[in-house]
Amino acid sequence: MNTPLSANVQKLRKFLEGRTGKAIMDYNMIEDGDTILVCCSGGKDSYTLLAMLMALQQRAPVKFRLIAMNLDQKQPGFPEDVLPRYFESLGIEYRIVEADTYSIVKDKIPEGKTTCSLCSRLRRGIIYRTAKELGANKIALGHHRDDMVHTLFLNMLFGGKMKAMPPKLVTDDKAHIVIRPLAYCSEADIAKFARAMEFPIIPCNLCGSQENLQRQKVKEMMHEWDRRYPGRTESVFTAIQNIVPSHLGDNDLFDFRGLTLDTPVEEGDIAFDAEELPISGTIPITHTA
Ligand code: SF4
Repeated sequence: MNTPLSANVQKLRKFLEGRTGKAIMDYNMIEDGDTILVCCSGGKDSYTLLAMLMALQQRAPVKFRLIAMNLDQKQPGFPEDVLPRYFESLGIEYRIVEADTYSIVKDKIPEGKTTCSLCSRLRRGIIYRTAKELGANKIALGHHRDDMVHTLFLNMLFGGKMKAMPPKLVTDDKAHIVIRPLAYCSEADIAKFARAMEFPIIPCNLCGSQENLQRQKVKEMMHEWDRRYPGRTESVFTAIQNIVPSHLGDNDLFDFRGLTLDTPVEEGDIAFDAEELPISGTIPITHTA
């Protein structure tokens, strides 16, 4: 962990820090005096999130406190010493919460059915409670750009809704703000960084459950698109930030019924024109070293 980083890894680290800093600024995710509970599962994303937030804390113009948290869900084979040892080595304040959600989920969900939704509901409740106990006003999660894009497609293809995963939101109990500082980072860069940093990764399949099948399909679809037409994930992510309600069909977002000749409409009517799309009109947010 203390071996000096190669020039390429340093470059990648700087790049990811830059992307994280930009997302934090764009969405005003962190303010002076915040106490941020950083959820660490032991996966590549949360290790990267913690590394980014700790680095930015050193040079941010505002003061904020970080508390790393891990929820030990009592899954069989969970290596309970790994994260405490890692947090100690970083010298960061941390809290390990033990809650046997594994048994609850196994007990309540019939064999063969997907356990993830109950499991995540239970986990969410415990995270909120811990944030309250520790006086944290923000909760940081390690979701990245690809997660957000996949969620958009999942909701569109299987849920009939144009809804992704927001970079910032208020919790259901209105007590905390959830932030996703890795919103501008790609999964590929995070994976590269995690490998180079040799983070002590804890496998994510200890519960024996399969990742949601529909999510897997969407991931495969996006990977295939990206392979054939590089830059598509960036493009969809840019679209999430660039919505034109007058060119969709939601009456709640745009008053189609009340539309008159005087209504200002963004982008006008190009229904009969050939769309002029840039070859790769996206923000270049993938590290290429
Ligand atoms: S994969 Fe396992 S630990 Fe993760 S949400 Fe699903 S049931 Fe829970």
